[in-house]
Amino acid sequence: MGDTPGASSYCAGDQRVRRERGCGGETVSDQSASGEARGPVATLRRIAFLMERQREESRRIEAFRNAARTILPLPEDEVRRRAETGTLTELAGIGPSTAAVITDACNGIVPERLVKLEKTAGPLATGGEELRARLRGDLHSHSDWSDGGSPLEEMAMTAMELGHDYLVLTDHSPRLRVANGLSAERLTRQLGVVDAVNEHLGGSFTLLKGIEVDILDDGSLDQTDEMLGRLDVRVASVHSKLRMDAGPMTKRMIGAVRNPHTNVLGHCTGRLVTGNRGMRPQSQFDARAVFTACAEEGVAVEINSRPERRDPPTKLLELARDLGCLFSIDSDAHAPGQLDMLDHGAARATEAGIDPDRIVTTWERDRLLEWAASRL
Ligand SMILES: [Zn+2]
Ligand SMILES: [Zn+2]
Repeated sequence: MGDTPGASSYCAGDQRVRRERGCGGETVSDQSASGEARGPVATLRRIAFLMERQREESRRIEAFRNAARTILPLPEDEVRRRAETGTLTELAGIGPSTAAVITDACNGIVPERLVKLEKTAGPLATGGEELRARLRGDLHSHSDWSDGGSPLEEMAMTAMELGHDYLVLTDHSPRLRVANGLSAERLTRQLGVVDAVNEHLGGSFTLLKGIEVDILDDGSLDQTDEMLGRLDVRVASVHSKLRMDAGPMTKRMIGAVRNPHTNVLGHCTGRLVTGNRGMRPQSQFDARAVFTACAEEGVAVEINSRPERRDPPTKLLELARDLGCLFSIDSDAHAPGQLDMLDHGAARATEAGIDPDRIVTTWERDRLLEWAASRL
C-alpha cells in the first residue's frame, strides 16, 4: 500500500501532522491481520477510517478524529503518562471511550473496538479489484472548508496512505450555501494552503486544486472564469432544481459540458438510491444528447462511487460507454475513510465493460493534468 513520500512529518498552516513511524503499524490502510498494535494516533485514525468507509454516522466518528487531533501535537511521554495516571480525559476532546482506546494503544493492546472493525476491512465491493488496482487517484473530494468532516491535510494524508498519486480537492462553490460553498476569496485562501501542503509532501503524491462547481439554472458555472482557470480540475454538478423539465435540464447540462473549464460531469442524475438521506429520483434529461456533448468535448462522465448514489444508473453508464465518453471513477468523499469507496465505482465500471484507458483516473498525473487543461 502507499508509503509516505519524503518526509516523516509535515506542517500545514498551524496544523501539525505527524506520522507515527516506529510505533507499530503506521498507516490507516495497513491491514492489521497480525493484530499488531499501533500507536495511539494511528489507532484512533484507523478506527475512524474503518467507520467512515462503512458510512457510519459522522457524529459517532468525530470523537475519534477529535481525540487524534488532540494528542497529535503532544509528546509521546505525556500521552503515556496521562494514560498511566488516568488523566487523558482532562484534555479537551477526549472522553472515556477514546481515553480507553488510547490507553490500550499505549499498552500495546489492540482495542476491542478495532478488533471488531478490522473484520470489515476487506474490499467494499467485488469484481472490480483489477481495475481498482489501476486507479491512481480521485477527482472529487470534500474537506471541512465546505461540507466535508475533516481538514484537507487529513484527506491528503489518507489518500496517500491508500496509494493514490493524486487527490483533487473539490469543495463546493458559493451558491451552495447549505454546504458552506467557497467564495472566490475563500477558495483563493484554500489554494495557498494546498500549495503549503504540497511543499511538505516531497513530490510523489500531489494534492490537486479543484472545485465541485454548481451548474446554475442557465447552464453557467457558479464561479468566476478567472478562479476556475487557476484550478487543476473542475467537476461540474447539478445540485438545485433537480426536477426541472427534461428540455431545460438537457440545455442546462449541455451548457456546462460545453464550458471549456468543465472536466468532469459529476453525479449526472442526482439520484439517491439508499441511505439516511432518503431516496431521490433521477433528474430527467436527454442522456444521449448530454453524453454526446461529453464525448465531443472530452468531458469525463463521473462514475460516482458513493453507494447511495450509484450514479449514473447502469443503463446510462452503458449508453455513455457506447457513445465513446471518458469516465472518472470518483469517491465524492466527505470524510477520509470514504476515499476508499472507489471499490464500488471500480466494480461498476468493470461490470459495464469499460476500457480502463477511457477512465481518466487510471492515468498518470501529468497525462491527467494535460487533459484537464486541454480546452482552456
Ligand atoms: Zn455533488
Ligand atoms: Zn461532491
